[in-house]
Amino acid sequence: MSEKINFEKKVLSENDRLAAVIRENLNARGILSLNLVSSPGSGKTSLLERTLKELGEKLNIALVAGDVQTENDANRLSKAGGRIVRPVITGGACHLDARMIDRALNKIDLSGTDVLFIENVGNLVCPSSYDLGEDMKVVLISTTEGDDKPLKYPSMFRRSSLMIINKTDLTEFTDFDIDKVKANARTINGDLEIFELSCRTGKGLDAWYEWLIDAAAKKKNSRQ
Ligand code: MG
Ligand code: ZN
Repeated sequence: MSEKINFEKKVLSENDRLAAVIRENLNARGILSLNLVSSPGSGKTSLLERTLKELGEKLNIALVAGDVQTENDANRLSKAGGRIVRPVITGGACHLDARMIDRALNKIDLSGTDVLFIENVGNLVCPSSYDLGEDMKVVLISTTEGDDKPLKYPSMFRRSSLMIINKTDLTEFTDFDIDKVKANARTINGDLEIFELSCRTGKGLDAWYEWLIDAAAKKKNSRQ
């Protein structure tokens, strides 16, 4: 048992070392990097699709799309006009790690990039333990899930800086309580910034775009 824990510790500390190198490289280039995490089906790919379509002119966006077995999401995102979309197939692993990101980024020309999105594997558990060198984790939750998810997966919500509530157009058909999910999330993480939107109708996307443009500009200005 303790050997297993030691092994996990070693894997994670090696991961952290590589993540620090990635972060340094992205910081030097002033690239804002966001690690998108959620359960399967919360709408990570849909959010990225719309963001690329509607912000692709204003921001130079690169993407690393993780998937367990297919390149379906990466293909969808390429069609949406991502300047660069790099698929990463984990071959069964339920999370992305810094090594996968490092390999993917080595194949991308990052010059001129404003924002790097990493679409993680749909899973609210172990992706929270793996630093990918990102500026922040963005956790998505949709109104077709339980509004107690922040309480069930506290580590993910604690380590995220932003929470996006998606599929707000469907609340009348579900028991999901938006006020409750916000309260639950804030019990875990009082600093969490929260957006409510629908990728289907587009409602609420403006605030997200505004935040993104602003955060990318701040990151560019902070370049040392
Ligand atoms: Mg996806
Ligand atoms: Zn995993």
